[in-house]
Amino acid sequence: MNVDNLTMTIGKQKKIALIAHDGKKQEMLDWCEANKEILQKHKLCGTGTTARMITERVGISVKGYNSGPLGGDQQIGAKIVEGQVNMVIFFSDPLAAQPHDPDVKALLRIAQVYDIPIANNKATADFLVHSLYMEQEYTHQIENFRNTVKKRAELL
Ligand code: PGA
Repeated sequence: MNVDNLTMTIGKQKKIALIAHDGKKQEMLDWCEANKEILQKHKLCGTGTTARMITERVGISVKGYNSGPLGGDQQIGAKIVEGQVNMVIFFSDPLAAQPHDPDVKALLRIAQVYDIPIANNKATADFLVHSLYMEQEYTHQIENFRNTVKKRAELL
């Protein structure tokens, strides 16, 4: 057994965070409409404005955190760390500067650390939600943080 790794399971029902920058909100609404049937089977959350727009206009229930520029991306990052989000659909806008760019980078980084599937554009989102793994459990290895903290506290 490798004590440096932890085996984690992404359950059959995914905990999906939905985020769209302003220039991509309509694309997100259209994408959610097109994939409504699939999305409804999972637990959905998102940054404040995105979540509200999807709930109101597409008619699927999305729990809203704070608006992205007010810390919503960071809240979702924290949920990844806690195991409460295990998939992210993030339609970021590559053509518009964002005031909360550091938060966006932090979210991408933490998703990478915890090996969370994350789509940054529509094509990747389509491939993700039509993957066979959407219908089954997925196990993966992440770093054993408890062990890492123990080792670091001993060594430093
Ligand atoms: P919003 O945040 O859904 O509140 O607009 C999205 C973002 O810009 O990160």
